[in-house]
Amino acid sequence: MAHVDQKIEGMYEEVLRRNPGETEFHQAVLEVLESLGPVVTKHPKFLERKIIQRICEPERQIIFRVPWMDDKGEVQINRGFRVEFSSALGPYKGGLRFHPSVYLGIIKFLGFEQCFKNSLTGLPIGGGKGGSDFDPKGKSDDEVMRFCQSFMTELYRHIGEHTDVPAGDIGVGGREIGYMFGQYKRITNRYEPGVLTGKGLTWGGSLVRTEATGYGATFFVNEMLKARKDSFDGKTCLVSGSGNVAIYTIEKIHQLGGKCVACSDSNGVIYDEKGLDLDLIKQIKEVERRRISDYVKIHKHAKYIAGGNIWEIPCQVAMPSATQNEINGKDAATLVKNGCIAVGEGANMPTTPEGVKVFLEAKIAYGPGKAANAGGVATSALEMQQNAGRDSWTFEYTEKKLEDIMINIHQNCFETADEYGAPGNYVLGANICGFIKIANAMVAHGLI
Ligand code: NDP
Repeated sequence: MAHVDQKIEGMYEEVLRRNPGETEFHQAVLEVLESLGPVVTKHPKFLERKIIQRICEPERQIIFRVPWMDDKGEVQINRGFRVEFSSALGPYKGGLRFHPSVYLGIIKFLGFEQCFKNSLTGLPIGGGKGGSDFDPKGKSDDEVMRFCQSFMTELYRHIGEHTDVPAGDIGVGGREIGYMFGQYKRITNRYEPGVLTGKGLTWGGSLVRTEATGYGATFFVNEMLKARKDSFDGKTCLVSGSGNVAIYTIEKIHQLGGKCVACSDSNGVIYDEKGLDLDLIKQIKEVERRRISDYVKIHKHAKYIAGGNIWEIPCQVAMPSATQNEINGKDAATLVKNGCIAVGEGANMPTTPEGVKVFLEAKIAYGPGKAANAGGVATSALEMQQNAGRDSWTFEYTEKKLEDIMINIHQNCFETADEYGAPGNYVLGANICGFIKIANAMVAHGLI
């Protein structure tokens, strides 16, 4: 707690007291509060209005039972969550995560981060997050459908185009959004595309939404490299995970001239020194829904390292794109020692506080998730714009908009870090820039 300004320290202790056991939420809050000392000194009204204490308390938290029947006819029970964190800048917006590790602390950390990320996009969206401890792995399509229908049977009453607009996250992709949209439509008797984003292209989805988080994170890293008069050209890169974010990060890295040599899943790492064959990864993961270990069945020269640590492979650019706390202090030190000059977080909070410290002290280009992976939610907001105008934009037009948004986020974080005396510190830049906009809106809206 040494880094938290004295004026704020008591607020963090109150967060610990009020939210026992929610370690990921504590971590996310502390990381933001550590940046806010100079902001409250400059804007005392934020202290008077207790803006920080209010931001740390979600506006609404919904927890519900999700009963469903598996293929054997056995009843299963999961827990569903939706945490509506902040509507200061627009309707609550943020994804749904289906993963067995989900509990309130994970959803609150994600929802809290989401508020600042959404603020950084410059688009009119508040912050929220939801999900369930349901594990889609190994489930049949019918089981996933029955689960999604049961989940939406409760969730539908809390969401809406002007209220709360969920999207995907870990374990929730186009298939799950489809089943949830179908159930929403059936219950409400309304064809309301603006209620969910990440929809299929023939029923209200936006081009580029699938690619957006990965492409956006790579655009952000490209900007950090440009700021250092460098580029992706010829750089060896690592991308952890092999899901939605990882796949389109690899694609954009390759388009920008980098060479991605490794990706992973929770079982192991694929290392292909010739550069990953992305068509094969898409076939394995998106079409056949199998494990990446199958990669070496086709490419015999590549290696599959069961239980391996991807961060031990030497690289110049690392883009963690799997899950929270996947890079610890030791991994960060290994990356820096091996010559890594840039880290862009596609995942949310993938680096532990010890790891962040290593990156900041080494003064490498380090883009935290709330800035670097904001392209996903930004393109969701573009999907909402298209839905509201009953329009659909071309791939090129939408991708250009995404790129401009990422350039803008980079510039704002970069300039804010400079303004607050910490040049090159994108953590500070992102936290302050995201916070000030929400705080000003909250002051304007009065005590609510
Ligand atoms: P997917 O479900 O498509 O893929 C997740 C990938 O990460 C899989 O390869 C999975 O491996 C791996 N993974 C998940 N949990 C763990 C774990 N505990 N340990 C090791 N590996 C794990 O999810 P996304 O690609 O959508 O999301 C990845 C990250 O990006 C998350 O942090 C998410 O919050 C963040 N994000 C996603 C956005 C989006 O638009 N989808 C937007 C912004 C951020 P396995 O199959 O073995 O579980």
